[in-house]
Amino acid sequence: MSIESFVTGFPRVGPKREYKWAVEKFWKSEITENEFLAKTDELIVSQWKIQRDFGISKQLVGDFSFYDQILETIGYLGIPLKRFGIVSNTDLEHYFKAARGGEVNGKKEAPLEMTKWFDTNYHYLVPEIDWDKDFSPNISRIKHELNLAKKNNIDVIAKIQGPATLLKLSREDSIDDGKKEKIVNSYLNLFNQLKDIGLSSVVLDEGAVGVGNSYISESLFYVLKDVVNKSDMEIFLNGFFGNYQGYLERLEELKIKTLHLDLCMGSFQDEEIKSLSKKFQLSFGVIDGRSIWKSNILDLINWLNKLGIENYIVSSSCSFLHSPYSLEEESILDPDLKNILSFGYEKLNELKLIVTSLNKAEVSEEAKEFNNSFQLSNKQLSGRVNPEVRERVEGLNEKDFNRSTKREERLLFQNENLNIPPLPTTTIGSFPQTAETRNLRKKYKANEINDEEYHKGLKEIIKETVEIQESLDLDILVHGEAERNDMVEYFGELLDGFAFTKFGWVQSYGSRCVKPPIIYGDVNRVDPMTVSWSTYAQSLTAKPMKGMLTGPVTILQWSFIRNDISKKEVAYQIALALRDEVVDLEKNGIKVIQIDEPAIREGLPLDKRFKEEYLDWAVNSFKLSSSGVKPETQIHSHMCYSEFDEILDAINALDVDVLSIEASRSGMDLVNEGLKEKYTGAIGPGIYDIHSPLVLEVNDAKVRVDQLVKSIKLENIWINPDCGLKTRGWPEVKESLKTMVDVTKEVRKTI
Ligand code: GLN
Ligand code: ZN
Repeated sequence: MSIESFVTGFPRVGPKREYKWAVEKFWKSEITENEFLAKTDELIVSQWKIQRDFGISKQLVGDFSFYDQILETIGYLGIPLKRFGIVSNTDLEHYFKAARGGEVNGKKEAPLEMTKWFDTNYHYLVPEIDWDKDFSPNISRIKHELNLAKKNNIDVIAKIQGPATLLKLSREDSIDDGKKEKIVNSYLNLFNQLKDIGLSSVVLDEGAVGVGNSYISESLFYVLKDVVNKSDMEIFLNGFFGNYQGYLERLEELKIKTLHLDLCMGSFQDEEIKSLSKKFQLSFGVIDGRSIWKSNILDLINWLNKLGIENYIVSSSCSFLHSPYSLEEESILDPDLKNILSFGYEKLNELKLIVTSLNKAEVSEEAKEFNNSFQLSNKQLSGRVNPEVRERVEGLNEKDFNRSTKREERLLFQNENLNIPPLPTTTIGSFPQTAETRNLRKKYKANEINDEEYHKGLKEIIKETVEIQESLDLDILVHGEAERNDMVEYFGELLDGFAFTKFGWVQSYGSRCVKPPIIYGDVNRVDPMTVSWSTYAQSLTAKPMKGMLTGPVTILQWSFIRNDISKKEVAYQIALALRDEVVDLEKNGIKVIQIDEPAIREGLPLDKRFKEEYLDWAVNSFKLSSSGVKPETQIHSHMCYSEFDEILDAINALDVDVLSIEASRSGMDLVNEGLKEKYTGAIGPGIYDIHSPLVLEVNDAKVRVDQLVKSIKLENIWINPDCGLKTRGWPEVKESLKTMVDVTKEVRKTI
């Protein structure tokens, strides 16, 4: 018996973000297409070789993508898109137009919409399928990768996104028979072409089916069934991010050879697994593609041995796309912390240790040493437990999660405290970050300027920002957030319990990467984090200055989180740190405090069974952070996404005094009946779309403000942009905010 190891997907951007640099040069025509392609080939081959050297049995062709795996699949299947027609990675110029926007047939086209890949921080492009045109599969690129593999003696298997997931993510939740036939045929056609070049097995990525029936409809499951059962390929069904809830028993209807189980996000009973093993070869996804912590490989080896199954594969739970590459060059991390972390290459090593022991039918010394060593580091690592923080979380009670007065009553105190007109105007927090601002921060980080010089520079920027807001006559002002590079990183750097890597990049979309902080220890606030900036800004104006914080759920959601205590407990720890900051701001004369939670919606579990539990602790964490203040202090929150209806009840339960929310891009859709019924607090649906450099038109502003006045109780309406203004330029911001304020003043006269 020989057990093999396998990885269902690997990062593409390169250990030093080589792909990013290459593609950005290509976009700027600084390198030729051939030079660019040579670079990508080099990167692909180098990663294959590394995986092979770690004993991974087969490498993937079709896993690499020039921008996004969904767009790649659209190209392989030759599915025409509405505004772009056929988009194939053999015509890169056109391909990148679909991804990034550009001129098509003499008309400027916006790119395909980008949205979250399941509940990860990766974003994919949403295909706009043009069903009226013919589909024409094109596997040139796969052929190219296959040749590349042959030249380098790499053994490969093809991988492609499966039909159910592709349709689900294209927002084609239910399709008629005609469409079904078209899509099924295009897969079968593609498979035939793959067979012609000698590829007779394929990994079908079916994340959506892996999540289960609360996420994907039965009609799409039938499309998958049709594709699989009509094909004569050897199919490896790669479902992940769940346990095929609702479909697990029905998988036997599918003619597949290998079935992948995500044993990190999905939970399966041993008995269930044994019975599945009688029908399929199983791929045990035991090495977590979404966390960055070492696995207890001895436990895994024992468990696999105890199952008593023969002929299986040991694999990643999902693609390692969501993990950074390697810890090799992380020289500044605490050695004990480094020794409990596991990025891409380290995960490959874990797979290697597991299968070597399994195949030798004896746990290797190396595997034992691995476990002992990281468990020792786990014990030794300093900063894991802060008894005071633990006690505080332990001792929380009902009162800590609630404000002392009801929202309507608080509003009376606040109106008196703030003295603002009806339809108050404000902004979301950040103002344009100019090269000067970024330079100042950079110099400070590089120790080129001292504290004093840095503070002086920042104060000048804050002063200017306040003056501009005064002259625009906004009602509630902000300090502008010039001291922040990133809304999570800023707080992480000031709190205990966070660590930062040098190269821990993870692809967010296209060539863009993020470097999430790592929460490894108890979170604790050592000193105030924002008070000096806010009080300085307040000292410059008689108008209320809004304090500005990032909320607990967003900090959690955009970080890698420790796995030795629950997410809820980490969230409460962060919430307590923020609570202290909120109270300190209040003590120092700040009357309005905004706690941003743009990521609260994206944390919603895909499997509906876990929704309530999540919302419960998410809402509580926010309330814990915001409830320490007096009734007259006004708490704001901000969220930005358009699908808002599903969690309206939870948002209402946050019990914020004022909520600002993105709305203008979706045509103020959220200002609907549902909102009126379910949301009872004050709300500022954004009337200025800050995602585009376009200036807010007077007419658009009028229409939007009128719409608010018609649909929401007057005393509940706030006027603000969609989101922070950080990425915009000053000229368009000044002009747009002037329009926003002027139009509001006009409307005020009529009420
Ligand atoms: N206060 C933040 C800002 O204005 C909010 C950013 C966000 O919602 N993503 O930049
Ligand atoms: Zn926002």
